[in-house]
Amino acid sequence: MMRNVFLLLTAGLLFLAAIVSYRTFAAAPVAVTLPTPPQLIKVNSAELATNLSQSIRFKTVSNQDPQLFDLNEFIAFQNWLQQTYPDFYAVVKTQMLAGSTQLNIWQGSDQSLSPVVFLAHQDVVPADETANSGWIEPPFAGNIKDGFIWGRGAIDDKGSLIAMLEAANRLAASGYQPKRTLIFGFGHDEEVGGNGAKAIAALLQSQGIRPWAVFDEGGAITTNMPDIAGPVARIGVAEKGYLTLILTARATGGHSSTPPKTTALGGISRAIAAVEANPFEKKLDPVLIAMLQATAKSTENGFVKRMILSNLWLFGGLVEAQLLGSKSGSAILGTTIAPTILHAGTKENILPREAIAYINFRIAGRDSIESVISHISKAINNPDIEITISNPPGSEPTPISQIGTGPYAWLSKVITDGFPGTLIAPNTVPMATDSRHFTKITDDIYRFAPYTFDSSDLSRIHGLNERIGVDDFAKGVQVYYLMLERAGQIG
Ligand SMILES: [Zn+2]
Repeated sequence: MMRNVFLLLTAGLLFLAAIVSYRTFAAAPVAVTLPTPPQLIKVNSAELATNLSQSIRFKTVSNQDPQLFDLNEFIAFQNWLQQTYPDFYAVVKTQMLAGSTQLNIWQGSDQSLSPVVFLAHQDVVPADETANSGWIEPPFAGNIKDGFIWGRGAIDDKGSLIAMLEAANRLAASGYQPKRTLIFGFGHDEEVGGNGAKAIAALLQSQGIRPWAVFDEGGAITTNMPDIAGPVARIGVAEKGYLTLILTARATGGHSSTPPKTTALGGISRAIAAVEANPFEKKLDPVLIAMLQATAKSTENGFVKRMILSNLWLFGGLVEAQLLGSKSGSAILGTTIAPTILHAGTKENILPREAIAYINFRIAGRDSIESVISHISKAINNPDIEITISNPPGSEPTPISQIGTGPYAWLSKVITDGFPGTLIAPNTVPMATDSRHFTKITDDIYRFAPYTFDSSDLSRIHGLNERIGVDDFAKGVQVYYLMLERAGQIG
């Protein structure tokens, strides 16, 4: 009997070892001779840098307060676009939506083919222009220095918008005629909710148009990242949801010499502590699994790492535990909780009648706005704490687009032709982009700009000293050209 059990166990272990080794070796990078990549168009990087630099000087800023919207800056910017890219504007039909959002349609010769949508936004987040703000170069000067173009929007998102226009203008000037219709949507308020993009999606929907795919910002090629140092093209196939909840605790105010048993400040503090003590489920999801499997192939990985990453069915728990150890790792495993604002009290000897806390959530695909609210009210478990949704009301996490097939495979080919040897991996974008408004009219949304960033560049987006390399920008124009030229030819 004992012998049989032992034999069975040994057989089981051998079987397990066989699967693990098979999967590990299947993930091993194979030395292949890369096919000669296609010739990229010739560009003058100094000239391209000058155009991006000029675009940065228009203060197309989106402020939280809509009163601060400066229409004249948007008008001037759009006039400049028309003057700088005349061949593009000659081939497209342009219409304005939701105020300053620009929809440009380049009609394809085959109307039976569904169009491809390219999005990029004109607006930028504000930047402090005072002398001690911490900017090395003034944020709206567009200075070109030390091999970089500096300023607000250099990456997000004039970097994409201008590169796309540079490429499209050259394509139009060459006499190119797309078979498939190319649609260019340039939103004016992406940073404050994206009403412009919403209007584009609604218009296309009303015309019964279902795009073949929508391409937007949100992913890039990264280098020197904690998981892999080498270049990895991260294609955003999904987007986290966004929600801010306002918690309000009320109490009788009065003089601080005779306080009641529970105060507004005590109540709000206990509520915040209860929320933090009840984190959301953190575990691998389909995008993360596909991402880890794709990066398992990196030549940087030793045998053990490759074995773990290619056998997540067995080592998934180990990987989750490791990811939970870092802020960014923990964030990609699930919905995050971030208390960001606290309001209460005006004077040290007066009890406030009200204490208010704002908690910001980035919602993972397995949760929803409704499930977050229900989780939070259960965690607080106090009917005296009022929970309301802040305005604007936030957004649900998006569905996951195809990974490995369809437009994902098509985009992967463009990337490997533009950047030979780059690994491709799917990703969930933690921020909101304009493309989320298109989930009703297409299943395939991909967030990727053909730029290479290292881990230090990522904090410049919405932060200080935003900049893009002159050569990186020029390369982006070349790869956008490849992308647009091929998109118009998809049969
Ligand atoms: Zn952006």
